[in-house]
Amino acid sequence: KDVVSRILVAKPSERLTIDEILNHPWVRENGDAPDAPLDNVVLTRMRKFSAMHKFKKMGLMAMARTMTKEEISGMKEMFKSFDKDGSGTITIDELQKGLQKKGAKTTSEEMKELLKSMDVDGSGEVDYEEFLAATLAVNKLKNESNLERAFAYFDKDDSGFITVDELMSVVEEFKLGNQMDVNQTLSEADKDGDGKIDYDEFLAMMRDKGEYSGKRF
Ligand code: CA
Ligand code: CA
Ligand code: CA
Repeated sequence: KDVVSRILVAKPSERLTIDEILNHPWVRENGDAPDAPLDNVVLTRMRKFSAMHKFKKMGLMAMARTMTKEEISGMKEMFKSFDKDGSGTITIDELQKGLQKKGAKTTSEEMKELLKSMDVDGSGEVDYEEFLAATLAVNKLKNESNLERAFAYFDKDDSGFITVDELMSVVEEFKLGNQMDVNQTLSEADKDGDGKIDYDEFLAMMRDKGEYSGKRF
């Protein structure tokens, strides 16, 4: 009753955090919170993210950027639990310790690959937005309004299309300039070949490949 009543609180700031729930005596097992399943979820999401192409990663970053504080409330806690020194970025060392502490099984080789793939702007570390994009819950992509907002983030002049210039400007914003060929990226998503990306094409690109299909891990 104690746990449930403290979870069912309308105000997020007064609600128990995931860590607090996992450390509550009722949830603990043998005095050690069984948080491995939670973090395997994180690891699974990171793995899926690493398999995505840059445009989709950018789409997820745009989604993260356009979500409300409420929608991403739990994720800030998660980020902080990795960013031990509070620098605002996660280093390879912090990623390794964070995942290990949570019982996620992975090799240091994979860890390096994961960091590299989450580090969308190639700065060498994972910042908050990159982390958000990499660990967004799958159900966010099923939510039409999240995708509409992400599309609108690219479609700066609200014309209903993402043009090469608009794509270019978001690429610059996310500091991906030297990492992708904007024209080629656009043409891959431009299924009807009119030189720009409409909402349906954007949707198809974001929901592509089935990384997000079906299974809710
Ligand atoms: Ca840090
Ligand atoms: Ca980075
Ligand atoms: Ca098109």
